[in-house]
Amino acid sequence: MQERGDTCDYCGEAGATDMHEWLIKRGAVPKGRKQLRIFDERNCSLLHHTCHLVEGQTKEMKRKLARVFLERYGLEALIGFVEELGLRDPSHLQFLKGVVKDMDEEGYSWQLLA
Ligand SMILES: [Zn+2]
Repeated sequence: MQERGDTCDYCGEAGATDMHEWLIKRGAVPKGRKQLRIFDERNCSLLHHTCHLVEGQTKEMKRKLARVFLERYGLEALIGFVEELGLRDPSHLQFLKGVVKDMDEEGYSWQLLA
């Protein structure tokens, strides 16, 4: 797990306590050893208990976290994570690409990535 203190990935304030599988939920992966791969750092966000409770299942939260994780790891790394799971459901990759498209259209500066 990458060291990133206790900053909430959703609101940006300190004091986060909850782990949240933001992109791929346990139930989306067939039972077995592969299921443990969802605890990859690219899929685990750190949230306040309140943020998790109030916003955890909303589309808005997922889109916000997608942007945070795209900035943190880059699209290639996130696609890599999804592909390693070998899921048949193409919606996860489509979702990521949709968020990237929105960011491009807003003129997001990808050069910030190392
Ligand atoms: Zn928060």
